[in-house]
Amino acid sequence: MSEQKIFATNEIIFSEGDLGDCAYLIEKGSVLVYLVKDEVEIPLKYLGEGEVFGEMSLIDCSPRSASCRAITESQLIIVKKEQLLNRIQEADPVVRLLMKVLLERLRTQNEQISGKKGQKKQAPDISLLQEKKQALDRIGLESRIAHGVDQNEFVPFYQPIVDIHTGKIVGCEALVRWISKEYGVISPSAFMDVVEESSQILKVGKLIIEKSLIDLPILRSVFSHEKNFFISINVSGRQFADPQFILHLEAARARGRLSSQQIKLELTERIMTAGPQALATLQSCRDLGYRLAIDDFGTGFSSLQYIAQMPLTDLKIDRSFVTKMRADKKYLSVVQSLISLAQSLDLNIIAEGIELQEELELLQQLQVNMGQGFLFSKALPLDEFLQLARRRKKIA
Ligand code: C2E
Ligand code: CA
Ligand code: CA
Repeated sequence: MSEQKIFATNEIIFSEGDLGDCAYLIEKGSVLVYLVKDEVEIPLKYLGEGEVFGEMSLIDCSPRSASCRAITESQLIIVKKEQLLNRIQEADPVVRLLMKVLLERLRTQNEQISGKKGQKKQAPDISLLQEKKQALDRIGLESRIAHGVDQNEFVPFYQPIVDIHTGKIVGCEALVRWISKEYGVISPSAFMDVVEESSQILKVGKLIIEKSLIDLPILRSVFSHEKNFFISINVSGRQFADPQFILHLEAARARGRLSSQQIKLELTERIMTAGPQALATLQSCRDLGYRLAIDDFGTGFSSLQYIAQMPLTDLKIDRSFVTKMRADKKYLSVVQSLISLAQSLDLNIIAEGIELQEELELLQQLQVNMGQGFLFSKALPLDEFLQLARRRKKIA
């Protein structure tokens, strides 16, 4: 049960300068928040049932910037520090910053009214300054990303996917790069988290689909001998949850007169958290003939139940397993289990992050079909990818 407290008429609830360790929710009665200037009370706000007060000190851990007393007998629910602090810590850093900026403004206003401006100034809190910097960096990055999207600076690079038994390039994965006028070529690790958490993912995702499907006929003309040549495109849960997703995908496919079977959509287990619309879209994509690969399998909250429910065609073995499988028997067992799981579900297997000849040879023995990794090539811009393909239609 929540803790309650009753204050008599005119009883002081807290005074300016007190350390605030709780906020209050008014269940019954009414209170006045006020300042004192030259021993005269300056009313700031009258509050009644259902309203909250005293939260400012909890949010920025500063002393009370105003006083409060009951106007009538008041029954108050105590809101404890921990109840709010956990939520504030978990909030988006930008929201947290904006909240603190608003509080600072309110406190300054109160100081101006009471004429005590600057009196309570404390040494700046280092963690607060760091938090501010992080939040400002984040806002700055979000703005630069939005500008980059408008300036058409996000493009797909292509990494070959190889049949590991014949060495032939059988497809490629489109991997986004940000070609920034300021900073040059930027990899997804520097911006994808921010893109994923903002609505920009829908714009960036749409751009990558459109651009890679414009490039696919060019790629296919170079790989005309490889009639099943495919392109793999990473699609996040939020894109699948967007009701416009299939319309955009189908429009881009129709413009290039492409077959859906040449297009593989890569999704991660996180799609399970994107809601029922995302799963329905997944099924519709499969019904339309798109191939569906589960990416980074085994690195998230894998559930075999999910993988059996999803209409998949391919399973990608994450780089972390490929890198460790030679030195650590446990990882080799995981890789073997993933392979037999994929085989029993009739899925193609693609091993990621192959860097060494020894890794390739082991994967060949393990009956993996396809692979990608720096041993073959890193992701390249379209023209360099085409040069690579022309130079050696057969690699490895
Ligand atoms: P991912 O889908 O798992 O892509 C594979 C990543 O591993 C790529 O990093 C690739 O460059 C890298 N890689 C491939 N072979 C090797 C190797 O042999 N060694 C090492 N060390 N790395 C290798 P990249 O391009 O930095 O992309 C990182 C992640 O960003 C991707 O991981 C994917 O989750 C995300 N991403 C990239 N492009 C898109 C996109 O267009 N849309 C979405 N939603 N996500 C994308
Ligand atoms: Ca991928
Ligand atoms: Ca992956």
